[in-house]
Amino acid sequence: MGEFDLIAWIRARSFASGRTTLGIGDDCASLRFPANAEIVVTTDMLMDGRHFRLGEATAEQVGYKALAVNLSDIAAMACIPVAALLAVALPSAEAVEIARGLHSGMRSLADRFGVSLIGGDTNAWDGPLVVSVTLLGEATEGPPIRRSGAKPGDAILVTGPLGGSLLGRHLHPEPRINEALALRRLVELHAMIDVSDGLASDLGHVLVESGGLGALLDARSIPVHTDAILLSGQDERPPLDHALTDGEDFELCVVVSMQEATRLLADPPCTLFRVGRVTAKPGLNIERADGRIEPLLIKGFDHLAGGPSF
Ligand code: ADP
Ligand code: MG
Repeated sequence: MGEFDLIAWIRARSFASGRTTLGIGDDCASLRFPANAEIVVTTDMLMDGRHFRLGEATAEQVGYKALAVNLSDIAAMACIPVAALLAVALPSAEAVEIARGLHSGMRSLADRFGVSLIGGDTNAWDGPLVVSVTLLGEATEGPPIRRSGAKPGDAILVTGPLGGSLLGRHLHPEPRINEALALRRLVELHAMIDVSDGLASDLGHVLVESGGLGALLDARSIPVHTDAILLSGQDERPPLDHALTDGEDFELCVVVSMQEATRLLADPPCTLFRVGRVTAKPGLNIERADGRIEPLLIKGFDHLAGGPSF
């Protein structure tokens, strides 16, 4: 099976739906949106040795994750996903098997969220697997929610327990698309981000983009994932540290007014924890269980600082 057979194989498994007017098979795909529709677009690349290890992870899992991380970005804007493109650099030795695996892993998730695969690029080389997905989405229920709308006094919420994703959860994140849409229908979302680099780091982005605000987190109310506790047993870092700084949780960090947070938590549309509040004073602080307030270094996974691969 060569490149063109492979594309034919993928094409036979694709379906043009929704906004797609032309799918796989031509020089470009085409889409038609209603007049004045606001389109969002995002892309994320996964590299063998950095974001996964092929062998430990199957090609199906890599395909799933490559789409899931992009869906998570669309969720963070409270938009709906529409269509995806997949660009791959395949290791020559097993190019076809890997490509098929990637496709089926992506496909299962794409179907669940009504995403059509409208194109891509297929290459093979003597290097490791690199996968890049580009995802188009649409803001259907109001403008995309940005990082920049947090206000002093706002509540900070997260949609699930955090930390320890490295133990395996990072390979099958659940994109919080439906949660984001449910939240947006109920309250005015001031700001939102998906937790890909750790709560401390990603909340830091929200605070900076919102004009240099700060936050006070409440150590007792941060939901610590059982994986964070397991990992803590292995590396002796406190579970709370894992919850605050581990990456790839892919939960949403949501900022709403304190009043709306209270209303939401009385009858939550999804899993939801209030973890702290936004402060006018810059800096990230945490109130420990004994009431002490300490500064929290904004750190998380930084590819340029920590990664050898740049
Ligand atoms: P071109 O040389 O004009 O870029 P290609 O031969 O690369 O065209 O691709 C042919 C068609 O197959 C295009 O519609 C392209 O989007 C699609 N395609 C290529 N690789 C993939 C892939 N891995 N997944 C989905 N579609 C793909
Ligand atoms: Mg091409």
